Amino acid sequence: MQSTQISFEKLRKDFPILQRTVRDNKTLVYLDNASTTQKPNQVIDAITDYYKNHNANIHRAVYALAEEATELYEATRDKIANFIHVKNREEIIFVRGTTEAINLVAYAWGRTHIQKDDIIVTTEYEHHSNIVPWQLLTQEKGAKLEYIRMDDNGELILDDLDKYLATGKVKLVTFSLMSNVLGTITDAEKIVSKCKEYGVLTLIDGAQAVPHMPVNIEKLDCDFFAFSGHKMLGPTGIGVLWVRKSVLQTMNPFHGGGDMIREVHKYETTWNDLPYKFEAGTPNIADVIGFGAAIDYLTNLGMDNVREHEIELTNYAIEKLSQINGLTIYGTKDISKRGGVISFNFADVHPHDVAQIIDEEGIAVRSGHHCAQVLMERLNVAATSRASFYIYNTKEEIDSLINSLNKVARIFKL
Ligand code: PLP
Repeated sequence: MQSTQISFEKLRKDFPILQRTVRDNKTLVYLDNASTTQKPNQVIDAITDYYKNHNANIHRAVYALAEEATELYEATRDKIANFIHVKNREEIIFVRGTTEAINLVAYAWGRTHIQKDDIIVTTEYEHHSNIVPWQLLTQEKGAKLEYIRMDDNGELILDDLDKYLATGKVKLVTFSLMSNVLGTITDAEKIVSKCKEYGVLTLIDGAQAVPHMPVNIEKLDCDFFAFSGHKMLGPTGIGVLWVRKSVLQTMNPFHGGGDMIREVHKYETTWNDLPYKFEAGTPNIADVIGFGAAIDYLTNLGMDNVREHEIELTNYAIEKLSQINGLTIYGTKDISKRGGVISFNFADVHPHDVAQIIDEEGIAVRSGHHCAQVLMERLNVAATSRASFYIYNTKEEIDSLINSLNKVARIFKL
């Protein structure tokens, strides 16, 4: 579908929350999409339909409802495989979100594959969920955690990666495909190909990338890939970990319990087939089904169109923000290297004050460290304000943001 055929304005009617007002009857302008996105009726209805018409546990009973619930749940796995270009559905594991996906890898892969003095490499612009699990693992194993630094343009200094790889001690390189603070798009193919030269595995945190641009896992050729449903129109509490089958086969289970077993005896257990070995207990059935509806919605829009829409909004926003007195934008202004996440600060004004003033106009932006304190240290700030866009945002909403930020500049006499 060509973008000209899609009315990004019209699709707003699919999102009930966008019709409401906040703070003294102000129209809601929701610009905190990097945090979580709003949900269309199609997703809300899919969840309601499951509870009203198909509610049963999956994979177990043979009665009609159980079969229907299982089919709906498993259909989402196939939708995801198509969406991210994965041939083998056994490689797709449902988890609570990106955080759980990365912790699963650190626990179920890391505990058997990482030894004393090994090195895990991450980057300076990671979310805490791609730092803390590796701190826990390397501290437990006596291994090392190293960082690829970031330059002043918000891009990674890949010479650092070369230096670490040359030690021969690196076992895993882990990085986000798009920064949740700067919007920088990482040159993943370059990193993965460098790692492959040394036989080093790669994990990609796709939490900010999968919702906003086409992602092809076959092409990326990494070993682990994680993302969250709630950042791409889906419900909270559901996400995906993809692992290359040859790597998955070397991993122990994460959680033990129902559904992940084949046979349980008093003192030993054998495991279920992939991916069920990694999905213990009753899963989040309703939200997996809701996630399937979100994937359908985005598939119908076309991810090239989603990216194009966000490029248009981001270009427009950067141009307008650049004209505001005293405002600094972090990261690259080269749109080919960034997504629709814009972090900024006013000289000496605390980002919480900025967020509060513009909240009076009904505008929701995030202020704080964005779960990226290592990056805040690198930028030498305690916090930033962050506006982040999605399919339902419009240029008029960006104009409202700009007007309210001009008000901030006036209040603080910048
Ligand atoms: N990684 C990145 C880049 C993120 O932006 C986020 C959430 O903001 C996460 C990981 C964690 O995702 P979740 O909270 O859905 O587990």
